Amino acid sequence: MAEIEREAMEYDVVIVGAGPAGLSAAIRLKQLDADLNVVVLEKGSEVGAHILSGAVLDPCGLDALIPDWKEKGAPLNVPVKADNFYVLGEAGQIRVPNWPMPPLMNNHGNYIVSMANVCRWMAEQAEALGVEIFPGMSCSELVYGDNGEVKGVVAGVFGLEADGSYGPNTEPGMELHGKYVFLSEGVRGSLAKEVIAKYDLQKGKEPQKFGIGMKEIWEIDPAKHREGTVTHTMGWPLGGNAGGGSFIYHLDNNQVYVGFVVHLNYKNPHLFPYMEFQRFKHHPMVAELLKGGKRVAYGARAITEGGYQSMPKMVAPGVALLGCSVGMVNVPRIKGNHNAMLSGKAAAEAAHAAIKAGRQSDELSDYETEVRTGAIGKDLKKVRNVKPMWSKWGLVPSLALGGLDMWTNSFGFSLFGTLGHGKTDAAATEEASKHKPIDYPKPDGTISFDRLTNVSFAATNHEESQPCHLRLTDPDVPVKVNLPKYAEPAQRYCPAGVYEVVEDEGGPRFVVNFQNCVHCKTCDIKDPSQNITWVTPQGGDGPNYPNM
Ligand SMILES: Cc1cc2nc3c(=O)[nH]c(=O)nc-3n(C[C@H](O)[C@H](O)[C@H](O)COP(=O)(O)OP(=O)(O)OC[C@H]3O[C@@H](n4cnc5c(N)ncnc54)[C@H](O)[C@@H]3O)c2cc1C
Repeated sequence: MAEIEREAMEYDVVIVGAGPAGLSAAIRLKQLDADLNVVVLEKGSEVGAHILSGAVLDPCGLDALIPDWKEKGAPLNVPVKADNFYVLGEAGQIRVPNWPMPPLMNNHGNYIVSMANVCRWMAEQAEALGVEIFPGMSCSELVYGDNGEVKGVVAGVFGLEADGSYGPNTEPGMELHGKYVFLSEGVRGSLAKEVIAKYDLQKGKEPQKFGIGMKEIWEIDPAKHREGTVTHTMGWPLGGNAGGGSFIYHLDNNQVYVGFVVHLNYKNPHLFPYMEFQRFKHHPMVAELLKGGKRVAYGARAITEGGYQSMPKMVAPGVALLGCSVGMVNVPRIKGNHNAMLSGKAAAEAAHAAIKAGRQSDELSDYETEVRTGAIGKDLKKVRNVKPMWSKWGLVPSLALGGLDMWTNSFGFSLFGTLGHGKTDAAATEEASKHKPIDYPKPDGTISFDRLTNVSFAATNHEESQPCHLRLTDPDVPVKVNLPKYAEPAQRYCPAGVYEVVEDEGGPRFVVNFQNCVHCKTCDIKDPSQNITWVTPQGGDGPNYPNM
């Protein structure tokens, strides 16, 4: 094929992804020097369209970035007023009192927010400072310089033929070059994955770990709504089958975020995370809350869980990884937005100093030092053993020992050192023959819903004529390897019903309904054969979350 000619545009800093990390970096760069040329590229149809987060926001990141955020009208309107933690059994629950919880678990001073709306507001702040923001622009390729450094990205390729070739309606996109490129793509970023592999950035670190988070927004009976109440649960229905738990956050306007996270290191390939979520809503405590209400939105996204010991090296020549492209979620707090913001600020400060000193396209090692030793590192280090304890010993011992470890870490030491995670989530999957299939109750259509009905509440859309963005390295693996060995778990781990095995006359056939994809990236993470690669579809495709 003839070499593709693309126009190139030059910037000081090119930022991929308009989440809290990328937008914070853009804002900080322009605060430091209004003359810097900064561009942010976002694959969602608008800023916020792909942002799915609980969310209880610890405002420390925003305080550091925009101290007068209140006067500037940031949409942080619902302070947390009550914090509840329950261990569920099938028919009842035990409330864990707040007093034995380490102080870091306290949510007072935090806000229940729509992160999609927070990002929309941050984009307005960035644009007011002169940042160029282009939504609907997927960054599909990295551009390398002559010395192997990252020089830029290709963005805005539209209208490819279904086989990936160029046709009459193809727009080849453009190259955006920067003195530094920031990858703030969130969890399992597709360009970040390439950079981590190319520069071997995970070397010497524990493997990254993940969960799948699913979330619905409900409008409930006003009599049951308790604005500012935060509830977390563990235990039923997952029991010993997997780590994870739920969150229920009462926003304003009688809305409630109901979410469920399943750790992706589960062994039993018959486990069906989406159905665990639906079953959870039938717990008497939850069903009572939701009865008479209606579900108004649905979405799903992976969440990083590896924490301190899994953060890869986050800089390579010309490029820095930010936020959850590194993995900065404090797992017991289920919070990563504050660290994403702080990482954006730190990366911007390092790039600004470097550019001012006449440097470009090198490693921003000051950024990495700040993340590991500054506020982010301190936040993550204290909780570094919670996830490995849970994986090794299960819920009850990890609640006790994890609690103890977080307490001692608050005083600067741990009795356990730093525990490792061991295997990747894909490698943790065991053969189906070792496990019993799980019988899930049928959704009732009132409190619980089938997957495809729920996906319609994510308003996701992909042009059918474009190439499938879920690439199979070997198209035979699903039926020849995954089906006999693992009962093809893609049918169950995908929260959007993208993958099916259908029985044809010729035998089983693997079908990829990529139009349903909500960009959660679970398939890229959990496929036991590591045969699925998630690449960016054209800009504007994917979910359209209103105020998740
Ligand atoms: C279910 C769930 C609940 C959570 N609850 C909370 C909570 O209550 N509190 C909290 O603090 N944290 C919470 N988190 C974690 C939080 O969402 C993350 O830590 C945070 O989103 C990380 O921010 P980020 O900017 O790194 O990435 P993201 O917020 O994921 O933003 C990345 C952006 O980059 C865009 N993008 C990605 N790739 C490309 C590309 N190639 N080209 C162009 N654009 C691209 C995406 O569309 C997206 O807009 C939760 C996560 C989940 C999944």
